[in-house]
Amino acid sequence: MARIIDGTEISRVMRAEMAQQVAALLAVGVTPGLSVVLVGNNPASQAYVASKTRACETLGMRGQTLNLPEDVSKDELFAVIDRLNADPAVHGILVQLPLPAHLPYKAVLEHIHPDKDVDGFHPQNAGLAFVGDPRAFVPCTPAGIMEMIRREGISTRGKHVVIVGRSLIVSKPLASLLMAPGPDATVTLTHRHTPDLASFTRQADILIVAVGKQNLITADMVKPGVVVIDVGQNRIPDESSPRGYRMVGDVDFTGVSEKAEAITPVPGGVGPMTITMLLANTIQAARQLHESRGAQR
Ligand code: NAP
Repeated sequence: MARIIDGTEISRVMRAEMAQQVAALLAVGVTPGLSVVLVGNNPASQAYVASKTRACETLGMRGQTLNLPEDVSKDELFAVIDRLNADPAVHGILVQLPLPAHLPYKAVLEHIHPDKDVDGFHPQNAGLAFVGDPRAFVPCTPAGIMEMIRREGISTRGKHVVIVGRSLIVSKPLASLLMAPGPDATVTLTHRHTPDLASFTRQADILIVAVGKQNLITADMVKPGVVVIDVGQNRIPDESSPRGYRMVGDVDFTGVSEKAEAITPVPGGVGPMTITMLLANTIQAARQLHESRGAQR
């Protein structure tokens, strides 16, 4: 039976460490501040945003939500981002996705100043991360997965990591982090057009699945002893839950746990790590801004 990789517990330990980093910044007069821009009233987005700002506040950081109407224009949204870009009390800016269809999300993300882009989606940060520059803000989910792997003592050197999915926010940055000197993994990325997916997943020493399809990975698709990181978040109806639904991943947890050495659960695996890394990136942004001001004096 697989060992459970407990993202909630790893996050708890990391957040205790980060509270000390926040205290050090508060001592020099800097309160790390995150501003989240939410467009519209999507209940799932509202819940995500609330958990992000709440997490900030529990660490003594400033978490602010700016809720804009569903029909906000591109120019109005850009004006809000301009104001946040110029505000010295705001260290991190995040625009919650998905945006309504009339807003060009790539242009919106590129409008955030790269020094405050704590989601790491600006092309400048993607480029810095790709070349391994420590100033880069690495997108929170891949950064959280790397922390999980490191803190669990899972060796990646020379291991074959198979990633299912090739998205810009999870899989591509993760591939580049894993293949870099240090982690030294051999990485295979797969996607919708990969023929015979199982022939790849069965080769994995570490299998990372970021697709959004319940039960995409079943026990016959993995080799014994594999480490499985399930990024998927799928809502399925559940009348026994007060919310009427529950979350499951992309991996058949029960079947795959019988063969795997270790596995992340959903919920309680990658999800908490993502928010924790958002806090880490906001602290990094506050520190970098404070240091650059010191250097200018
Ligand atoms: P995405 O942008 O929709 O990408 C999904 C990827 O899966 C695409 O590359 C797609 O291939 C690939 N794919 C689809 N069907 C496939 C199949 N049958 N076989 C192989 N590959 C297939 O999604 P994402 O943003 O990366 O998110 C993926 C999942 O992770 C979602 O469930 C999301 O909710 C979850 N997520 C969780 C967290 C967290 O904190 N836990 C954070 C981010 C995302 P193509 O490129 O060929 O279309």
